[in-house]
Amino acid sequence: MMRQYELVERVKSYDPAADEEALNRAYVFSMKAHGNQQRASGDSYFSHPVEVAGILSEKKLDSASIVTGLLHDTVEDTVATMADIEGQFGGEVARLVDGVTKLSQLDLVSDRSMQAENFRKLVLAMSQDIRVLIVKLADRLHNMRTLNFIRSADKRRRIARETMDIYVPLAERIGIRDWKEELEDLAFAELNPDARSSILSRLDFLRKRGGDIVGRVLEELRGTFERNGVKADVSGREKRPPSIWRKMQRNNVGFEQLSDIMAFRVLVDTEEECYRALGVIHSNYRVVPGRFKDYISLPKPNGYRSLHTSVMGPFKERIEVQIRTWEMHDVAELGVAAHWQHKQGIPTDKRTEGMQYRWLRELLEILDHAGGAEEFLEHTKLEMYADQVFCFTPKGELQALPAGSTAVDFAYAVHTDIGNTCVGAKVNGRIVPLRTELRNGDQVEIITSKAQTPSPTWESFVVTGKARACIRRFVRGQQRREYTQLGREIVEKVFREEGYEFTLKAIEGVVKNFHCRTPDDLFAEVGEGNSTGTEVLHAVFPGSKKRGWRERMALRPRRKGKKRPVAIKGLTPGMAVHIAGCCHPIPGDRIVGIQTTGKGVTIHTIDCETLESFTDMPERWVDLAWDVEDEEARLHNARIKVIVANEPGSLGVLSTVVGREGGNISNLKIMDRSADFFEMLIDIEVGDIKQLTDIIAALRATSVINSVERAHV
Ligand code: MN
Repeated sequence: MMRQYELVERVKSYDPAADEEALNRAYVFSMKAHGNQQRASGDSYFSHPVEVAGILSEKKLDSASIVTGLLHDTVEDTVATMADIEGQFGGEVARLVDGVTKLSQLDLVSDRSMQAENFRKLVLAMSQDIRVLIVKLADRLHNMRTLNFIRSADKRRRIARETMDIYVPLAERIGIRDWKEELEDLAFAELNPDARSSILSRLDFLRKRGGDIVGRVLEELRGTFERNGVKADVSGREKRPPSIWRKMQRNNVGFEQLSDIMAFRVLVDTEEECYRALGVIHSNYRVVPGRFKDYISLPKPNGYRSLHTSVMGPFKERIEVQIRTWEMHDVAELGVAAHWQHKQGIPTDKRTEGMQYRWLRELLEILDHAGGAEEFLEHTKLEMYADQVFCFTPKGELQALPAGSTAVDFAYAVHTDIGNTCVGAKVNGRIVPLRTELRNGDQVEIITSKAQTPSPTWESFVVTGKARACIRRFVRGQQRREYTQLGREIVEKVFREEGYEFTLKAIEGVVKNFHCRTPDDLFAEVGEGNSTGTEVLHAVFPGSKKRGWRERMALRPRRKGKKRPVAIKGLTPGMAVHIAGCCHPIPGDRIVGIQTTGKGVTIHTIDCETLESFTDMPERWVDLAWDVEDEEARLHNARIKVIVANEPGSLGVLSTVVGREGGNISNLKIMDRSADFFEMLIDIEVGDIKQLTDIIAALRATSVINSVERAHV
């Protein structure tokens, strides 16, 4: 185990300005916190954070990262708290330790290999500061180096699988190639011990037979290019066991056939030289059939361009050769970044690609050179997945959602049926409102009930398109059913009142006139207020007079043998009378008449706002009162404005309440429809103000109805 002064000296050797005092304090703090805890190896637990700090110092990281390495397990595994860390080491270190702790808590989640890509994103999203990820990788590297001490084979395999799926690609993406390769080798050794030892002994055998075969092939290839006048930079190496294994699996080759264990890269200046270099290779060495790939004329989807071929090399061993220009080589490295961007859905734009590439480049350079590292790392935030949030189902499956997603979005992401029947949600075991915004790493359990249907109010807070579309589709269908029922009632009533027989067959015959396909479509139109029952009647029986409610009101007394259209005291006989369309007065309302030349008298309620425009013309005012004795079995149209909750069933409740109080809805118009409420105007036929007041009171007592008032429009 590295001693305190060794660690400090190592850090100071590349960063003379390092916070020596903080390093010393962190060393002691961690040692005391871990006390005599032990690792599986029997070593003191404290050796682990010290090794992690040592690994980090090899990458010449800033002192905050090294301190974080020393402290990274104290909050998770000892009595030390975040507050202790913040108090003793400040906000920056506290933030970093907190980040690593959160990532470590993810390790506890069950099998994740199926969703590796999402987990990698989750780790990135939660890292925020690149140093968090680097410390986590160093932690994982040391744990992998000591994996063999863990007794449970299942646990070893799980950790190795996770390393292969999550941490190897992450190390590759941030460009720490040697960590990537070591992690991969260690995981491979655990997951495929037999394959690995076979490959290693084969490599050994080949090496013994051929000596430094890579070096010799390299020399030979360089000479061949020179003789043929191609200026090329050639490099080569032995492939590592995991990549040899992948190749064996991909190409389904048996072990005895395994001979292409060397890979060479040829870099030239121009595209034309790529093909000339290829010609040199193919004319000097025997080509292995079926292995040539031209990714220059047919680039890979991620933009990768290169020529790949395999030949029998100068020493009769298969070698793999990749030929590309320096520029293509840059893009090949950029492939990592391009992939990154692709996953974020950022359009492939050369300029942003370049920027992303530079970001990685700079990171690598800074990891190599101490100067300015602190400042750079300080400002390097991992914002790659800041626009997404990653949550788990109770089974540990991961859902990637847009930032701001709520429990309802999550429910719909899992399954449409879950969304449609969700009644509640538990986040990390606690019941929360459905509108609760989810955070990275939340475990979300959706509570469902078959009796539940989507609420239109959900639409105001969901953020995913899927949830929105499902809610709309459902609510739309629900509303249509209500409109259909309401419309049918209206049409039937108009037919009944006007003395015509209502049959569906008759309605079917006229649906086309209304641009509808079925009677239900037409009823929905009427229910929604786009057509009226009278229009339907008129279409079915063109002989019937098409009348509005005012005319019918005026007509009805005549049918019943009354002398005057409206029973009102104070009118000059023979005077024409109109009921004002603004205030819809009904018996019981205090009323006043306004005389209009050539038009007779218009009746308003005494509080109607229209009257204000007549205040200067007292000569036109007529004192009137309802003739109550004369009022028998006569219906009057009242208009009310109702605000109803926009939820399933509310329109049905509305029509039921009105009907129960003996009112008839003769017309209905929706003025405004928001996510939460409908505002509508309803004409109701009532006998008098008492009946209307009863209806209004009954409506006000109904929970789905927000407000009711007489309309003055
Ligand atoms: Mn650890």
